[in-house]
Amino acid sequence: MPFAQLGLSEPVLTGVRAAGYVQPTPIQLRAIPLVMEGRDLIGSAQTGTGKTAAFALPILSRLGTPAPGPRCLVLEPTRELAAQVETAFRDYARFTKLQVAVAYGGVGYGLQNEALRKGVDILVATPGRLLDHLGRGTLRLDRVQYLVLDEADRMLDMGFLPDVKRIIEKCARKRHTSLFSATIPPEIETLIRWAMHAPEVVEIGVRRPRRKRWHAIYPCRPGRRPTCCWPFRSS
Ligand code: AMP
Repeated sequence: MPFAQLGLSEPVLTGVRAAGYVQPTPIQLRAIPLVMEGRDLIGSAQTGTGKTAAFALPILSRLGTPAPGPRCLVLEPTRELAAQVETAFRDYARFTKLQVAVAYGGVGYGLQNEALRKGVDILVATPGRLLDHLGRGTLRLDRVQYLVLDEADRMLDMGFLPDVKRIIEKCARKRHTSLFSATIPPEIETLIRWAMHAPEVVEIGVRRPRRKRWHAIYPCRPGRRPTCCWPFRSS
């Protein structure tokens, strides 16, 4: 099925063609119609499957034209991912009038404040810097209609889940939420139950088992440290 049959808006389809995409990937085929219908979505797919376009294209189509916002918030665990996803949104949105901005830590506030002051439709952010903006009063989230929690299992591993929950509490209650995660550990399941409404699950490829780490302590005298690490293992 070509992109044109997925119900995307004309400016977004033009962006897709300009990006050189001919056929939707499997996750795009399954996820785009669900987000277009306004369903909450759990995507179990890894980077490289085309998952960014799977959520960006329908959200851009549904946002339509600029309005006070941000109306879409995408949370990413790292600044690199945030920058990458912002670039993808900008590419897909370039034939729309929608404004995209990014906010992550480790850089000054100047450009981010300016973008937020001018008004953004889509904000891609890391949790820490987003909370800083909320604390400084440079951002409000009560207009967020589309919330995307990307790489949720990595956010959990990096200890961001409490921040993510605080952010979700600031978002509008009436919203569409998409969550992407290569694994669904119990903490993410709890988050799903709390933050999502009757989500549809789209699973692409084999769900990667959660990595188990084994730790053991073997006391030994100085100078008798074993050269072989087995059974210390990380699998
Ligand atoms: P992602 O999984 O979102 O990081 O995407 C991985 C790569 O696939 C990126 O370089 C995208 O530009 C590219 N991509 C996404 N969707 C398509 C598509 N339908 N056709 C060709 N390339 C795509």
